[in-house]
Formats: sequence, C-alpha cells, structure tokens
Amino acid sequence: MIVFVFSVSDRVMNDHLPPSAPQASYDASRPAAAEHARPTPMMAQYIEIKAANADSILFYRMGDFYEMFFDDAEIASRTLGIVLTKRGKHQGEDIPMCGVPVERADDYLQRLIAAGHRVAVCEQTEDPAEAKKRGGKSVVRLVTPGTITEERLLEPGQANLFVALARRHLSEDQQVFGLAAVDISTGHFTVMQTSLAGLAPELARLDPREIICPDALHEDAELRQLWRDARAAVTPVARDGLDQTSAERRLTSFFGVSTLEAFGSFSAVEIAAAGLALMYVERTQLGVRPPLSPPLREQPDAAMQIDAATRANLELMRTLSGNRAGSLLATIDRTVTSSGGRLLAERLAGPLTNLADIAQRHDSVAFFRSEPGLREDARKALSGIGDLSRALSRLALERGGPRDLLALGQGLVAAHAVAARLRAGPELPALMTEAVACLEQFDVVMAQRLLATLADEVPLSRRDGGFVRAGFDDELDELRLLQVDSRKVIAALQGRYAADTGVRQLKIKHNNVLGFFVEVPQVAGEGFLAAPWREVFVHRQTMADVMRFTSVELGELESRIASAADRALRREAGFFDELHRLVMAHAMAIKSVADALAQIDVAASLAELAVDLGWFRPQMEDTLAFTIEGGRHPVVEAALRRDGKSFIANSCDLSGSPDAGGGAISLVTGPNMAGKSTFLRQNALIAILAQMGSYVPATSARIGIVDRLFSRVGAADDLARGRSTFMVEMVETAAILNQAGSRALVILDEIGRGTATFDGLSIAWAAIEHLHESNGCRALFATHYHELTALAERLARVSNATMRVTEWNGDVVFLHEVVAGAADRSYGIQVARLAGLPPAVVERAKAILHELEKTEREKPVAALVDDLPLFAAPVQRAQPQAAPQADLVGEALAQLDLDDLTPRQALEELYRLKRLAGSARR
Ligand code: ATP
Repeated sequence: MIVFVFSVSDRVMNDHLPPSAPQASYDASRPAAAEHARPTPMMAQYIEIKAANADSILFYRMGDFYEMFFDDAEIASRTLGIVLTKRGKHQGEDIPMCGVPVERADDYLQRLIAAGHRVAVCEQTEDPAEAKKRGGKSVVRLVTPGTITEERLLEPGQANLFVALARRHLSEDQQVFGLAAVDISTGHFTVMQTSLAGLAPELARLDPREIICPDALHEDAELRQLWRDARAAVTPVARDGLDQTSAERRLTSFFGVSTLEAFGSFSAVEIAAAGLALMYVERTQLGVRPPLSPPLREQPDAAMQIDAATRANLELMRTLSGNRAGSLLATIDRTVTSSGGRLLAERLAGPLTNLADIAQRHDSVAFFRSEPGLREDARKALSGIGDLSRALSRLALERGGPRDLLALGQGLVAAHAVAARLRAGPELPALMTEAVACLEQFDVVMAQRLLATLADEVPLSRRDGGFVRAGFDDELDELRLLQVDSRKVIAALQGRYAADTGVRQLKIKHNNVLGFFVEVPQVAGEGFLAAPWREVFVHRQTMADVMRFTSVELGELESRIASAADRALRREAGFFDELHRLVMAHAMAIKSVADALAQIDVAASLAELAVDLGWFRPQMEDTLAFTIEGGRHPVVEAALRRDGKSFIANSCDLSGSPDAGGGAISLVTGPNMAGKSTFLRQNALIAILAQMGSYVPATSARIGIVDRLFSRVGAADDLARGRSTFMVEMVETAAILNQAGSRALVILDEIGRGTATFDGLSIAWAAIEHLHESNGCRALFATHYHELTALAERLARVSNATMRVTEWNGDVVFLHEVVAGAADRSYGIQVARLAGLPPAVVERAKAILHELEKTEREKPVAALVDDLPLFAAPVQRAQPQAAPQADLVGEALAQLDLDDLTPRQALEELYRLKRLAGSARR
C-alpha cells in the first residue's frame, strides 16, 4: 500500500483561502472517552489517512462517492453548496459528512482548487476481498492548483505551471535564485537562475498557479511582499532532502542518466530548484511519472524583462478586470490548436532579446504570409489535431483513456500529412525546416497501429469497453457476437415463455439486483405460483401490479452473457495496455511532434493575423532606434472596428544613440480623451509584438532591441496592500527611475497626478530630468502639466508632441492625431461638460479657471522652474529606495471617529492636526 506522508511543515500558505477555513479539529491520538466512543475500523483508517494529509481536503472513496468528514465536510459543503449530513459518532459527537459522486468529481475538484484548497484523493487500492478485511485504502494522488491534469480542470490555451524556488548566498549581501517551472499536464520543464531583483519579473512572466519554496525562503522578511503579490498559491516545504547532492541524485534517477551534463550545464541553485520541483512531482503524483522533458536551461537575459505592474497595465494576457477577452493575447490569437495557443501565450509573456532568434521567428511568419494556399492547408490540417501533450501526460499518469489514445493516433497521422504538405511547397525557413523534420522523423507506423486497433468512436473510460475496432481481433469479435446472440436468444425465450404460458404481456427484463427476470402482471403471476408453472418459474418479487420470477434456463443464459462480457472487457483491457506501452515507449518523440506542431501553428497564425489586419515586419537592430510609422493600438483598433469606427494611425520617433547620451524622450500633451494613453501603450505593445516574433500594427517599424519595458499607466488604488493611488504611482515610478538602463523603453502616463499640483509638477519635472540625464532610455511621457514642455528647449533629447483637437460650436473635437508641438490647454472643462457635469458647476469652473490663468500669466510657474539649476548630479542607478515618510496627519485623521466628537473636541482635534502638519514639514 502506498501511503503518502506530508511532513509537518508542509502546509499551504494561501491568501485566497477563506479566512475562517477551519483546520481538522479532531484528534486521532486522543484516548476515547468510553468504550463506545472507539471509532469504527473504517473511521479509524480515515483518521489515520487524514492525519497524514492534514493540509488537504480528503476525498475518501466509498462505493460510487467520495465522502468527506469532520471539518473537510463543513468546508466542502460551504464551498460546493452541497448538503451536510451526519454519519455515526466520534468521541460522543456527530460526525459531519458530505459526498460527491465519483463520476462528477472533476467539477467539484475544480471548484475546491479554484477556492485555494488542496485535495488528497483516497482510493480503494487493493482487490476488494483484501480491502474488506483490511480497509485497503490509500491516497493515490494529491490535487493542488499547480499539478492538475484533468482536461476539464485545465484551460486549453493556458499553461498550468508550478514553480519551485531555491536560493544560494554567494556572499553576505549577494544571493542568487534558481527557478524551475514545471507543467505536469504537458511535461514542460525549464530552469533558470536570477537575482533578487529579477525574481518578481520572472515570476510575473511565468505566471504559475503554485509556488513551492523551502521554509527558509517563505519566512524571509525580504520576500514577504513577493508572496503577497503572487497570484499563485504558495506552498512551503521542509528543508530535508533539498541539498544539492540529493537534488542531483533525484534528477539523474528520474531521467535515467548518470550525469546531468547530458542536458547542459546547470548552476548549483538551478539544480537545487529542479530537484525541488521533482520532489514535488513525486509527492503529489505518488508513484506515477509524468512524461517530463529533461530540464531546459533558460538564459537569464533571453527575454525582455517586464515587471508585474507593466504587464497588468498593458493588459497583455488579461485585462485589468482579469478577463482574457479584451487583452492583447485574445486580440492576436489566431491559433487553431491548444498547444499553439499555449506557445503563443508563452511567447507574448517573454519577448526575446536576441536579434537572430527574433529574425528566425519573423522569417517563419514571412513564409506563411507569402504562401496563402499553404497556410490555409496547414491551418486546416492542424485544426483537427487534439491536444497531444496533454493526452500523453494523462496516459502517463494513468488517468488517460481510449479517447486520449485515439487523439494521439489521429494527431500523429495528421502531423505526417502536415509535414508532407509543407515539404511540397517552396523552401522552408530555418525554424520551419526543424519543425517539419521533427514531424517526419516520427514513426508513423506506430500511429497507424493505434488507429488500426481503435474504433472510430471510443468511450472516455477504458472500463466501458467497446473501443477496439470491430474486425481487429477474432476472439473479441466472437465474444461480442455471443453477447449479441444471447440477446437474440433472450428475445426468443421471451416469445416462447409468452406462447407457452399464454401471458402476452410477459417480458424478460434486467436489473442489477435480480439480473435477468421474467415479469408478468400480478394476476398472471398468481398462476405461476401453482403447478405446472411453479416447476419452471421461481418467484422472486411482488411489486405493486407485477410479479417477478427467474428460471433455471434464464440463469444459465445470464451467466453465459456475463462471462462473455467479462472476457470481452478483459481482452479489450489487454489491448489498451499494449497501446499504452507503445505510446509510452514513444513518449519523448510524441512530445517533440506536439512542440513542432505548436511552432507551425503559431507561425501560420501570426501570418494570418498580419494578412488580416495589415501588419508589417519590423526591422530589428542592435541600436537605440525606435521609429514607428503609422502605428496602431491593436486592441483599441479592434474595439473601434466593432463599432464601425476607424483608428487614426500615429507615428513615433524615440531613436537615440549612445553618443548622443541615450534614447529620446517624447513629451505628449493634449486634452483629456484625446488618445494620449492609447498612443503611449501602442508603442509599448509594438515593441513587445516585434520581439515576440510577430509582425506589428504599423506601416513600418525600426526597433533597437528593448531589454526592459516599464510602464506606469493610469492610477489605481491598491488598498488591499495598504497603498493609496499616489503611493502606488510613486512606488512604480521609483522602480523605473532606479532600474531603467539605456536599452529600456519607458512609458510614463501622467506622473504626479495623485497629489497637489505643484508637488506633482515638481516630481514630473525631476523625473524627466533623471530619465534624460541618468537613465538615458527611450521614453514616452504623457502629461497635463503644460509647464513641462519648456524642458524640450533645455534637454537635447526631449521633444514635444501633442494630440490635435479642434473646437466646433464650443465643443472640443478629438482628432486623435499626434503632431509635433505642445498643447496650450487641456480642455478639461469641455470634457467634463460632455460627461454631463451640471451646467452650474461647469460655469463656475470656467470662472475659476479664468482667474487662475490670469495669475499664471502674471507670475508663470514655468519661468520660475526654468530658473532652477538643471538636475545636477545624476543619481546612481538602482540605489535602494528610501522608506517613504509616514503620513502623520493622514494617519491621525484616519483614526478620528468624526461621529463621536463634540464640537469642542472637533476644534481641539483640528489644532492637533495643524501642529502635526507643522512638525511633519520641519
Ligand atoms: P485622459 O487624459 O483623459 O486619460 P487620453 O488622452 O489618455 O485621456 P485615451 O484614453 O488614450 O485618451 O483615449 C480615449 C479614447 O479615444 C479611446 O478609448 C479611444 O476610443 C479613442 N482613441 C484614442 N486614440 C485613438 C486613435 N488613434 N484613433 C481613434 N480613436 C482613438
């Protein structure tokens, strides 16, 4: 019996857990209060297994149900909305219980996992006779967010990764981290090394469902924010068995190699992370082995670094509200296979930084773009291919069925056809040559064997039988014939009995309790109880208006049918096992085919997109160029198109050079609603699309590789983390100013808007100076502080751009066109009027604005700031940020309960606040 024991310190730290989720409150070791309180053998075994899986909800198999008891039952009944019942007593108290039917367990699992729980599945693992004697149950599997494999629990186009983390101290103040990313559902396995600063962006890129880390990392104060920010469940594990030697041994034995060098050279911390990942696979899969690829080492700088805030702001994989629809991914996804969809998402999450690799991807898109016939044929053939990697994984984990085998057979044969079609066309570019060669190398005879054995339509589960093709095996055909024949014999017997007894309504029926039986109306049944019929029919049941009988003849027939069905099922199971072995023997080759198909799908789909939307190939360079002609925002354009409107294309030039001191900065001013944010974002998206290997929504683009992308767009409170709008804005701005190098691209939208005008203006002013003098990166900066446009005259690489508008009958008309120059005003009041502000407020605002502008004309702020010395000593990059000053007045205010104050107390409080404000200023 396999018994899974989770170490005591293995527990789930999950912010998504309902705050009141109770832990198991019973105590198996507590002596029973009285003899009658001793648990039944079944309960004793349940308690033993539950104690070993204290951090999981235990699905305890009992017949056709998974039952849950005690606190698990209460949590499940709340989370799943199922009825809570009772079963027996434990230590004098009722045992709460609820259950879910085995055949619908996936649905319930999905909901428990989504709510942040882990589930330990406990099955009958021995033969029933043994089980009866000893209880014979054990946990066969742990289902956790990062290790699910069920088709219905997984998103087809989305990876389901868990990441294992390890750390190594190089010196007292220098540490490196190893990240191993595993997708059990596809066999994906990558490792990389990164620094503390790189950890958060890498986790944001991988977007795992679960993070596994040693206790020490989990408890490290420096990383606490990381765990809090993670969208994933965080699972700490005990230190034991995590040293490098054990990790190495675990890896070499899993992959059956004598040394890891066979897979490349890995650093110590990478090996530690990979070893931890395997340990977690073993802990959760309990004895079955997913078909993992050998670990693939990712270079730390191979992908453009994009932090989590920038990803969220740019709505790359999902919108700010968390939906896939409306994201960049959803807009560009034209893939026709699930694995293609996953590869596209992976590429979008990690745009490349290597020119040659990017060029190879562009070449593939160019090929399919110029070959419409080939593209169409390839996409058509691909669209019929199932999810080969996930089918393979399910089979390897012994959770697969005949449908997975059939999907593999059909997919692998179709893959050969795709290869043949592509070979028949013009010369293929490098990546496609590799992919096609991979498809051709696969032994298609194996796939044909699958198809020859399997029927055209097969059931989901092997237990249902009926999946082997008729005519494939003589013995199976005979057994099936016997079953069919027996049915005919039964029909004949029914006819004979009816004729002999003269009861026309006589029927032969079947149910699980009686097996086959003769059913007659009650009146006729009375006659069967007397001679001569009582010699033939044995009475079994009397129902409301019918009576049921069996007969010797019927009994014999039944056992013949049952044994034929049994033998047929066993024979089919033998074929299943044979095909299963065949598939497993080709597992790695099947994975390569699946990967190659995904590559072809992505290239063809990006070509389809480029043709559909009129996108062009960007010119990529190793410079600080950034010249976009006729650029568009793909998501906004798609939304406008749906409304029958068109998008106004805009150009952008941020090109610079190291000799000139770095990239250029464009200061974009213009009215509200004119399209500034759209313009900023579209240029960031064009850089991402270009470097992920796609064509871009622009008539031409010349882009020097961007190594890091930062964006600070829009304002959002992050109250859950105790940060106000302005604090979020400043934390993100600080990260940019501290980290952006000359190859970075920076998008800053309305810095300083969340505070008083002069504070904001001063911060924005100083930030631009810093970007120009110290960071030297290419940057787009949108602002309503028109005073900032004066900087273009003082800073060589800063230029002004503005959004064109005209006025029509007193209303502002947005032209959405970016032109050189500065805006003279923001038209905020006109926009507010359009938004429906009461006329009285609009009029009053106009009068106030008039007064303010008069003051400004008499004593312009721009002139004042102009007199200040230029940002003199460039701040050293990546300096640790000083802790923000506590907001004493704000805190004091927050603590005040206004409803509880007398007028006199209120006045006193006011004086106190004023004193506090004074001391904070000093
Ligand atoms: P604010 O200063 O109020 O934040 P903004 O100048 O940043 O506004 P956006 O949010 O970029 O303006 O754009 C407002 C709307 O204008 C968009 O939702 C879109 O519908 C439209 N728009 C923006 N750019 C274009 C364009 N180039 N062509 C057509 N419509 C556009």
